[in-house]
Amino acid sequence: MNPFKFILSTVIVLLGFCSCEKESGKQESTALKSEMPEIKRLFGSQTKTLSNGLQIVVVEEHSVPRVSMSVLYKVGAADDPAHIMGVSHMLEHLFFYGSSKYPDFTRAVGKLGGVAEAYTDYDCTVFNIDCPVEKLGVAFAMEADRMANFCLKDDQVFEREKKVIHEERLTRVENSMHGLLHEFIQNAISPQHPYGKLVIGQPHTLLAISKDDVMAHYKKWYKPHNAVLIVVGDVKAEGVFGEAERAFGGIPSEDASASSLERVRVKNSMTENVHQKIQCTWANIESARVVLCYNTPHFKKDGKRKCFALLLGLRALLEPSCDFYTYFEDKKFISNLTFFCGFAAFDPELLRIQVDLPKTITPKVFLKEFFAKIEQILKNGVKPEDFAREKKLYLINVAYKETDGHRKICDCFTCLARGDTVEGVEASCEDLLSVTEEQANAALKEFLGKKPRALVKMSPESER
Ligand SMILES: [Zn+2]
Repeated sequence: MNPFKFILSTVIVLLGFCSCEKESGKQESTALKSEMPEIKRLFGSQTKTLSNGLQIVVVEEHSVPRVSMSVLYKVGAADDPAHIMGVSHMLEHLFFYGSSKYPDFTRAVGKLGGVAEAYTDYDCTVFNIDCPVEKLGVAFAMEADRMANFCLKDDQVFEREKKVIHEERLTRVENSMHGLLHEFIQNAISPQHPYGKLVIGQPHTLLAISKDDVMAHYKKWYKPHNAVLIVVGDVKAEGVFGEAERAFGGIPSEDASASSLERVRVKNSMTENVHQKIQCTWANIESARVVLCYNTPHFKKDGKRKCFALLLGLRALLEPSCDFYTYFEDKKFISNLTFFCGFAAFDPELLRIQVDLPKTITPKVFLKEFFAKIEQILKNGVKPEDFAREKKLYLINVAYKETDGHRKICDCFTCLARGDTVEGVEASCEDLLSVTEEQANAALKEFLGKKPRALVKMSPESER
């Protein structure tokens, strides 16, 4: 028996827009610039594309004698046919059991002294191996084998993984406040777009997926020209290109000239001046959560610099050491506050500000204070010292790649599946460095100055 009980009320209000000031001219923080290293290209990566269309990206990083590799397929849950939503994620699971040479892929990688993992998101499916550097050639051969020869012979494996995924959904969605709320929000704000469903699929779409569906999905998308091989570690790029050519070069691609398959996405039907209020109650939780969803710029339409201006503005507002956060913390109005900025997805997403409230504070009380404080900040701007500090901290996090490790650098290149380029990734630091306080404040005004597209409250009981 599912204990979950909710009231969902959607209030749609049509509203006008607030005016916003134009971005002012460039006033770079020279103090900050002088403290930051001169970074022309962030990772100094080298890239090459094989004749079958497989793109290879190599970052030489010699701190430890290990290597991380990722095979990135430019397909994710948002490309799943609606009636079998979840098929990308199911293929990801089965991809560990579909090779006759390596029937248990994870174990075979373990024997190399390595670790194999994978994940699926809306826009990509990623397979990772971390291993000793001398085993890279074997790891390539293994990845190439499953890219070329995946097959699903064993019905038992198929049925078992289907069950595993059902269990995963129960744990991550049905029995999780975070998962349930995420599913509601996605459904409400993207009713037509596939981002409106969860990557894992829904119980009825999972049931509908057949072995043939999984094989068809693999045959359509898992092609060398729809993949990127990312290698970061104690290697030489030329050596990696040679090894990769030997392992992957023989895999045929029907149309190696196409850089990617066409990804047909439904446009969202929700107009931008529709605002929703969603209220859920669930007796299983102890205190309330509030999520505010706002429009964001999108990197393909608005350019990355505008996206970074908003990102740095949000950090100067919402990071724990900033004035805004401390104000709510000192008043004991929040237990936790995080934000997610969705401007780097393949299709536009929304910015979410997620706040967990202490038991003593209701969403109504919190929101009154939140909007008043936001209005004040948008008028006066963020504290200059908050902006300077957060910009510096963020740049250091992004720029000092050694502290982040090989795996994190691989992850930085997964945006190639969302329409970004190697040079775009390499220019990230310069783009961030160029953002001024004025631009950050202008971006905050433009995007937080409007009513949220969705205001979501989940509480243990309905508000009186
Ligand atoms: Zn899974």
